[in-house]
Amino acid sequence: MINYADSIKSAVSMPDLLERYGLPVSRHHRIPCPIHNGTKSNFAYKEHGFNCYVCGVHGDVITFTELYFGLAFMDACRKLDEDFHLGLNVGGTLDAEKRAEAERVSAELRAKREREEAERKRLQEAYHAALDRWCELDKAKRNGKPITPYDDLTERYAYAVKNIDAAGAALDEAEINLWEFEHEGEKAYTPVSVQRDRGSGFSSGSGGIRDSRTSRVG
Ligand SMILES: [Zn+2]
Repeated sequence: MINYADSIKSAVSMPDLLERYGLPVSRHHRIPCPIHNGTKSNFAYKEHGFNCYVCGVHGDVITFTELYFGLAFMDACRKLDEDFHLGLNVGGTLDAEKRAEAERVSAELRAKREREEAERKRLQEAYHAALDRWCELDKAKRNGKPITPYDDLTERYAYAVKNIDAAGAALDEAEINLWEFEHEGEKAYTPVSVQRDRGSGFSSGSGGIRDSRTSRVG
């Protein structure tokens, strides 16, 4: 059996494996973990091994096949033998039922990853749209500010003053949603508006932003 394993390992590399099973490869050898379906590139691989810094899985191409397809060691060897046409005849062939189950397990992982990619894209776009809107209102509010109380309020300034709090709250919401998505499992997050409130060139969103957050989180 050791011989089969060694033959497989010398014939199939991690990049081969990832490509064969439709998983991303990266120039830097870091991708989102296919095993725990991570969202960040915490899965590092080399020619013959891999390691995930989040869920802790590590091993060689056979270990990966066991984990990714939910197969026992022998079945993982059989699958690799067949899928890469190694001609090792590892104690018979993978039976149809196990092969179908392996396909189902990996297809599920793939579908989940695609859904998550789409969700990340949606949240990022929402965040950037909310940020653009808040920045525009903030600029209008600062530039259009009347110099004396007798100056007429410009339309843009009035609009900005009226809407910037809601825009700030929407930005916080989008920021929190994106952060929580990127940091699955971790919770507490302080939005940038708190830094804005401390000054440093940014004008304040509003106190209501943090109030609404507190009630949402608590
Ligand atoms: Zn992982």
